[in-house]
Amino acid sequence: MSGDPTVTGSCLCGAVRFSVRLPTLFCGHCHCSICRRSHGAAFGTWFGVVRDQVSVEAGEAEIGRFQSSDHGTRFFCLRCGSPVFFESTRNPERVEIPLASMHDPIDRRPEAHIYFDHRASWVVVDDDLPRMGGPSGLEPITL
Ligand SMILES: [Zn+2]
Ligand SMILES: [Zn+2]
Repeated sequence: MSGDPTVTGSCLCGAVRFSVRLPTLFCGHCHCSICRRSHGAAFGTWFGVVRDQVSVEAGEAEIGRFQSSDHGTRFFCLRCGSPVFFESTRNPERVEIPLASMHDPIDRRPEAHIYFDHRASWVVVDDDLPRMGGPSGLEPITL
């Protein structure tokens, strides 16, 4: 596995820097209200990787955490506030990372809209990606 390509990312101020060994598991736009608020954006675009493929290269002490739901914890830079990681007890083997924090392209593009039925009323989506929703946010829906 050591031959797999590695990509790097950071928070806005650069205090928190990390590297991610490819391949990734998935990538999607999450429209849930927690992602929207914590990113201050129309939706959050995340990719997932197996935990041991992520290495924090700098700023471990600058990473704050917030438990955002019964299963989810969000990690952010204490200096600049940027979201950097998400973990869920539902998938403890994974870490999710905001695609926008990466310096390099990863090995896939966003593949779906998640929790699309929770999207902001003002957001307009005109791509052809699958739209998922329901209780898990991951069931096919037509909206
Ligand atoms: Zn920062
Ligand atoms: Zn979300």
